[in-house]
Amino acid sequence: MSLKPILLVPHAALREQTAPIGLFDKRVKLLADDMLETMYEGQGIGLAGPQIGALERILVMDIAGEGEKPNPLQLVNPEIVWSSEEQSAYNEGCLSIPGQYGEVVRPAEVKVRYQTPSGEEKELNASGLLATCVQHEIDHLHGILFIDHLSKLKRDILMRKYRKAQSA
Ligand SMILES: [Zn+2]
Repeated sequence: MSLKPILLVPHAALREQTAPIGLFDKRVKLLADDMLETMYEGQGIGLAGPQIGALERILVMDIAGEGEKPNPLQLVNPEIVWSSEEQSAYNEGCLSIPGQYGEVVRPAEVKVRYQTPSGEEKELNASGLLATCVQHEIDHLHGILFIDHLSKLKRDILMRKYRKAQSA
């Protein structure tokens, strides 16, 4: 396994659409494992392909807290097939926008259909932090960032702080 550099806003790859994965070979397993390692190193709870420049439909997550047993998830070609009417707000951050956080409102529960890196079909019923995380990561696969869900005013303030912090 190897660590990959995490791309930061405003890198163009973070705004690209991604391609589905059709061949479930060793390369996909390696990519998924590299992504998990990179996510853990960055102390994130989720990482999507575009964040390391892989424009493919793949994401990894682990929302286990410190001291809890790790619970790594690797989702290939994930698709939200159901979302609840009920919404929930969470103060989101992103490894590609380090140091910045903003409250995003999303469906409180989602059902996601996906494949494992070896091509097995699965479903994930997510609520709470996992629901927030999986929606944030799936957004990445379509070039969408959490800041896009903020009001223009909040986004402008956040980006100003971010640029200032990046140039310091
Ligand atoms: Zn992110």
